[in-house]
Amino acid sequence: MARGDAYNFPVVREAIGHADALYGFKGGFDRAGLALGLKAGGYWPGNMDKGLTNHQSTVFLFDPDTGQLSALVGGNYLTALRTAASSSVSIAHLARKDAKVLGMVGAGHQSTFQLRAAVEQRAFEKVVAWNPHPDMLPRLGAVAEELGLAFEAVSQQDLGAEADVIITITSAFEPLIMADWIKPGTHIACMGTDTKGKQEVDPALLKRATVFADEIAQSISIGEAQHAVAQGLIAEGDITPVGAVINGTHPGRTSEDEITLFDGTGVGLQDLAVASVAARIARERGLGDMARLG
Ligand code: NAD
Repeated sequence: MARGDAYNFPVVREAIGHADALYGFKGGFDRAGLALGLKAGGYWPGNMDKGLTNHQSTVFLFDPDTGQLSALVGGNYLTALRTAASSSVSIAHLARKDAKVLGMVGAGHQSTFQLRAAVEQRAFEKVVAWNPHPDMLPRLGAVAEELGLAFEAVSQQDLGAEADVIITITSAFEPLIMADWIKPGTHIACMGTDTKGKQEVDPALLKRATVFADEIAQSISIGEAQHAVAQGLIAEGDITPVGAVINGTHPGRTSEDEITLFDGTGVGLQDLAVASVAARIARERGLGDMARLG
């Protein structure tokens, strides 16, 4: 994306007026990787009572040379993986090398995936966690223990004071972490805010931090930056695509005391990339139902 080889189509996300569902499409085209398609899906709040996951999605991949459908790939598990990979990539490129304490804000379905991917990037020794519903924390604690990490449930202020890296992954609509609770040198990956109106951190934190995003257009409209931009605290031009850091055209973190913030809203190209890998592996292993389509 940052090289201009790939782009996302505008996101469609609608309340469809049935089953309280939010439904829509995220798609794009990667000319370099030859991935063309879209993810269709959304959120059905009543699914849990039916024994189903509330988030439901399917990825459609097309042959960019002919437009023929090349694969249909279930998107529920892959969305969890690609979202975890996204914050993990931000940690790899932006967190201090000596980060030891990981702060988790959120303890829902996505949180354990984020934790597993994060610990691959730094030699973390301890996880400190806070969740608005404390009864959900033991499940996250069990994963930390499985990974050999100490785990402690703490207050929001203590989390800010202790953590070197913070991941926020809640469905909050108001700030959970305030700007002056964060210590210098922290990297924070804001992953929960992916819709207009959602919010996880104090907008003043985006002014205090150097801000990166997966895609700037989404960051300022449906991401954490929507609030700081609306309040005039930062401008669109203050946000850097994390791809520029990965490609080496932006230095990323420039001092040990700098606070870096990654605003990850989730882009269609991530879904196409991960689904393409799954489809390729399925073909190589002779798995999946292959049908020739007109
Ligand atoms: P989940 O429903 O399993 O967990 C929700 C989490 O948010 C829990 O920690 C819960 O305690 C907390 N929460 C619920 N209501 C809240 C409220 N009103 N205020 C504050 N916190 C609240 O959801 P999940 O699958 O873990 O997803 C978490 C968030 O991540 C969602 O907002 C989801 O839309 C978002 N998400 C983002 C991406 C991305 O690419 N950025 C991808 C997948 C999910």
